[in-house]
Amino acid sequence: MKINHSKIKETNRKRIIKLLLEENEITKLDISRELDISITTVSTNINELKEEAIVEDVRSVESTGGRKAIAIRIDENCRYSMGVALTPKHIKISLVNLKKKIVESMRVRHNNEGMENIINLIKENIEQMLKEKNISTDKLLGIGFSIPGIVDSDTGVIKYCYFLGIKSFDLKQHFEYLNTPIYVDNEANLSAFYEFLDKKHVQDNLLYVSITDGLGLGIVINGKIYRGNNNASGEMGHMKIEIDGKQCKCGSRGCLEGYVSKNALVEGYNEAAKIKILDIDDFEQKYLSKDDLAIGILHKYLKNLALGISNLIMILDPNSVIIGGDINDLLKDNMDDLRKFIYKDNLFTNESNCNIKVADFTESYLLGAAMLPIEEFLEIK
Ligand SMILES: [Zn+2]
Repeated sequence: MKINHSKIKETNRKRIIKLLLEENEITKLDISRELDISITTVSTNINELKEEAIVEDVRSVESTGGRKAIAIRIDENCRYSMGVALTPKHIKISLVNLKKKIVESMRVRHNNEGMENIINLIKENIEQMLKEKNISTDKLLGIGFSIPGIVDSDTGVIKYCYFLGIKSFDLKQHFEYLNTPIYVDNEANLSAFYEFLDKKHVQDNLLYVSITDGLGLGIVINGKIYRGNNNASGEMGHMKIEIDGKQCKCGSRGCLEGYVSKNALVEGYNEAAKIKILDIDDFEQKYLSKDDLAIGILHKYLKNLALGISNLIMILDPNSVIIGGDINDLLKDNMDDLRKFIYKDNLFTNESNCNIKVADFTESYLLGAAMLPIEEFLEIK
């Protein structure tokens, strides 16, 4: 009985907070009507939330009954959440408030000289951001970390990340001194999670194909991140597309990543060109200036990407595939071709069943990481 009682109490509290986040200002009476919770219970909860400085009175408004009533609203800056993304070259940090608005963002380059240096750099920057914004850790709902590798999200251990040259690295342990919940997850999982939260009503079975230095995949099935039995789901980059093909960073050969990461475009260009290019920005410039070689290489690239995505659709039958990462503009320019290649030999589904699009954000993973503590705060269990 006791357990049920506290569960009901917790559920009521979370439902009230969720409603307050949706509404700008609302009276207790309207909360009671909207959620079908007694006015006494609403009052008790509101008083508690006021004590915790989560909600505040605003002004008198005409209530639906015609009497004057005090409206209340949530103080969106009463709690914060932080996302930290570790990429092969950068540390990116975003601070968001309870309404998921970005309050502060920063990025800093790291020289990838060992995890100790990287951890210290992250600590320094987290502490500095909190200090500058005058936020104590008791106002922080938690920190979510995005990692471009295989992560055990239950323990916060990075199991394997070849970009950072680490195996079995306990990331969570390094940040426990901050006394705030720490979440660690894979980059593509977090991008998929963010896209799902952004458009919950239309897509609950979605794939997020993440094209960066590597090629990752986040899978959301029925609104939940699918991690697999061993936290190793979504290793799309290491699906083999050519026997004895290109050497891959994982040690194997013929992995899709070798043909479809952003570096594949640069490498492909440099293998055939007389004058070499430096990076993906150079490639994009060549493409925009209608360089025949760049156009041909992108065409071949799109066919390989389509092959990978088409195979995934055959297995998982999602309602959306979102592609995002570092080459969004190149892809946006070529979506008709990409869709055509994906569905060309697929007799089982088509564009009207599964929508394929390019992500609106380039850093969904960072926002996804920042959303983890907020979702945990609001989740009714
Ligand atoms: Zn591989």
